[in-house]
Amino acid sequence: MSQAHYEVNGETAVIRLDNPPVNGLGLALRQGIVAGIKQAEGDEKVKSIVLIGSDRAFSGGADISEFGTPTMMAEPILTTVINYVESARKPVIAAISGACMGGGLELALGCHYRIATADAQLSLPEVKLGLLPGAGGTQRLPRVIGAEHAVNMIVSGAAVPAKKFQGTPLLDEVVDGDLLKGALALAGKVVKEGLPLKRIRDLKCQHPNPEGFFMFTRTTVGAMAKNYPAPLKCVDAVEAAVTKPFDQGMKVEQEAFAHLMQTPESAALRHAFFAERKASKISDVPSDTPVRDIKSVGVIGAGTMGTGISINFLNAGIPVTIVEMKQEGLDRGLTHIRSVYEGRVKKGRMSQEKAQACLDLLTTSLDYSPLSTVDLVIEAVFEELSVKESVFTKLDEVCKPGAILASNTSTLDVDNIAAFTKRPQDVIGLHFFSPANVMKLLEVVRGEKTANDVLATAMKLAKVIKKTAVVSGVCDGFIGNRMINQYQREAMLMLQEGASVQQIDKVIEKFGFAMGPLRMADLAGGDIGWAIRKRQYDEKPEMKRMVIADRICEMGRYGQKTGSGFYRYEPGNRAALHDPAVDQVVEDVRKELGITPRKISAEEILQRCVYALVNEGARILEEGIAQRASDIDMVYLTGYGFPVYRGGPMHYAQQVGLMNVMRAMEPFAENPNAEPGFWEPAPLLARCAESGKGFH
Ligand code: NAD
Repeated sequence: MSQAHYEVNGETAVIRLDNPPVNGLGLALRQGIVAGIKQAEGDEKVKSIVLIGSDRAFSGGADISEFGTPTMMAEPILTTVINYVESARKPVIAAISGACMGGGLELALGCHYRIATADAQLSLPEVKLGLLPGAGGTQRLPRVIGAEHAVNMIVSGAAVPAKKFQGTPLLDEVVDGDLLKGALALAGKVVKEGLPLKRIRDLKCQHPNPEGFFMFTRTTVGAMAKNYPAPLKCVDAVEAAVTKPFDQGMKVEQEAFAHLMQTPESAALRHAFFAERKASKISDVPSDTPVRDIKSVGVIGAGTMGTGISINFLNAGIPVTIVEMKQEGLDRGLTHIRSVYEGRVKKGRMSQEKAQACLDLLTTSLDYSPLSTVDLVIEAVFEELSVKESVFTKLDEVCKPGAILASNTSTLDVDNIAAFTKRPQDVIGLHFFSPANVMKLLEVVRGEKTANDVLATAMKLAKVIKKTAVVSGVCDGFIGNRMINQYQREAMLMLQEGASVQQIDKVIEKFGFAMGPLRMADLAGGDIGWAIRKRQYDEKPEMKRMVIADRICEMGRYGQKTGSGFYRYEPGNRAALHDPAVDQVVEDVRKELGITPRKISAEEILQRCVYALVNEGARILEEGIAQRASDIDMVYLTGYGFPVYRGGPMHYAQQVGLMNVMRAMEPFAENPNAEPGFWEPAPLLARCAESGKGFH
């Protein structure tokens, strides 16, 4: 069925793009537009042509379901479509509403005239996928809004409301009312007055000082873009729009596009883009599973996590009741929440009115009775099973039937927690990351008995509060912390074997992590990792002890919160400073353990940390704790500061080559200081490497 509906309205052919949800420019739509243009050209009664989309979108650009398939490059490709439109013998008017993104905007720029609703959103977001607009966007946009504005839009990928372009050659008209009516009127005027078929390609893009401008732009963009090649290529292409004739500029754009398509950075960004979409789907929970209505939320515990969690819901306009044990706890929590809103207002990120409206949605209580009416409760109390037991027993008594009972536990067994209630089907883990109002990741922990509609509700709710949700099965540490424990363990073992705190963190930060494993341990709180290790030592007495890390904790050095850990910290300052006291601990422990320190290379540090993630990730995948390798990548990209341009640990391993990863692991298994068995390749890793198919 055609995705471009053709009808004639008076003397104007109207081609309506119809590929919901956002008129992605898939093959059928591209064919439909070309057919429509031809039909209009062949109809003598037709004097002009209007291209129009839906209220939601003129077009969101390329059809993502075609990505990586031959259909994407099947003719007519987008540049062919744009050529048909631009060379049409009758005036073509783009009528723009909603999203006009990427290829959608490039299509509009190929039209002779453009009219838009004031709130339509125009953007060329390709840079976010490590690419640049490849259908003339870098050549036509500067010709209508000038090189400076065009560079800003293309390098940032940001959406700009149409009303900002009023009066520029980008938009001939901006309307508030009926778009089609406005477009038909504009078409009538063009025909009546015999106005020319304006082609943007024929305009000159001038700049008073192109050399100076592009030199300056390259410096600033280069400094910002660091590990991403696309932004500088965008600058090159816009420069070509200023300095070269159109067709030569198009060549520059196309060469840059082809080059960027091959870069690992773009591959990683495209992987992340699709990974995020896939993560929201649960393979055995149908997408039409009914969801429960969440109109109000209860949060238990007004500590670090409870307050951050509450802010998410307040921001989304959902009323929250926080329950605490003591008034002091409530007061502390409330002060924190208020200070977060005050900070946002001060920084101009939120209006005073909006902040107040959020705070007005918050109520507090020292008893559980107000929780009898809420639709969802999230528990964020101390990490002790007995405390969780008392909370969930009470919730089971108080909450209405059908209310979802969630725990934010990081390490405890959600199935055990569910068993404290008579409704385990309503119990789920909602594992937020600290600071919970900032971090994007939400691990949705699926208990053995968690009902499908509870899961579906959690996934939907995650979108409402703007989180990236990833489903995890129940295991020690779920996906993220179970893997990070292995990664940090390697860092701590290397410290014992001969590396320094600074060396380890530097290597990992150079790789692109937001912070190295030891700085991260200091930020998270050494006591938390220590408690986990102590439990694990009990459970697995054969486990390798991380003596230096334990010794540092024994000294009361829990990281930033105590002013010292693997580093020392000045009051009120988060900068991690070298601490000779730690060097002393390291030296003492090595002596006690009889370890002669050896020089550990940057390569070994990197491989042991990152491949520890990969190997454990493969185990997690094989056990079905994660649904897909890309979900593991999402956890690491959104929750652990893994460099986005490397696509997450599983994607990165594939880029390196799984055989190469396994090869690098061999000597680690022979290291007498290694955790026994850990460097045995996970069976899935070995199978994927041998089959050459990879994880995805
Ligand atoms: P916290 O100590 O900062 O806060 C816990 C709060 O719960 C305290 O204010 C305490 O008074 C209150 N509380 C304890 N028992 C209660 C009860 N029976 N009824 C009402 N209130 C009670 O702890 P936190 O860091 O916010 O951690 C809370 C939970 O979140 C834990 O399960 C933890 O594992 C998990 N978690 C923590 C982090 C983190 O980085 N801090 C990250 C993810 C998950």
